[in-house]
Amino acid sequence: MTARLVFGTRNPKKLEELRDLLADLPIELCDLSRYLHCPEIAETGTTFVENADLKAIGVARAIGEWVLAEDSGLVVPALGGRPGVDSAIYAGRHGDNAANNAKLLAEVQQLPPDQRSAYYVCVAVLAGPDGTVHARTEGRCHGVLIPELRGSGGFGYDPMFLIPEFHRTFGELSLRVKQALSHRARAIAQMRPTLRKLLAPAN
Ligand code: IMP
Repeated sequence: MTARLVFGTRNPKKLEELRDLLADLPIELCDLSRYLHCPEIAETGTTFVENADLKAIGVARAIGEWVLAEDSGLVVPALGGRPGVDSAIYAGRHGDNAANNAKLLAEVQQLPPDQRSAYYVCVAVLAGPDGTVHARTEGRCHGVLIPELRGSGGFGYDPMFLIPEFHRTFGELSLRVKQALSHRARAIAQMRPTLRKLLAPAN
């Protein structure tokens, strides 16, 4: 039997990545686009953990299904951790990638080259239909920000996030490479045993 898991997001790029990461599990994964009555969950937390919990618990209670939610973002230590939990709204409007990139690019250009290291964080939370949290995992991916945009793959800050070993940004690298290294892939890899046990017990 295929269990249904709702991914608590309306971001089609995140859904594409998650579908690919969980493709081998007998789980029907859908996003929130079919749950029109599900309210927008305000991300009022000050940490990735708080916001991931808010989304997973809030969505699970609203729709009464198993929900996997994640909160993610980019941390630049030399900028005091910005954009951090505000990654999606860095320039003001939620999910305005072009404006967010322009704002961060201007800041990175002011940083000396040896101060441009950064890392992505993803906290994933699995909640049952009543809102009980069954698992919480975290993944990180380290890289260096470059003072220009390169490539059109991925989403968000990917065109300025360089993986030094590959001399390429996530915008230039294939989805296959991003899925081997990314913060989201690492958080989901740790979540797999729980997903198997709770949602796909026969496998
Ligand atoms: P959230 O939807 O509140 O978790 O915000 C996620 C934001 O973090 C996105 O809008 C991007 O700005 C950034 N972000 C998270 N993951 C990635 C990624 O894999 N690539 C590029 N940007 C990301």
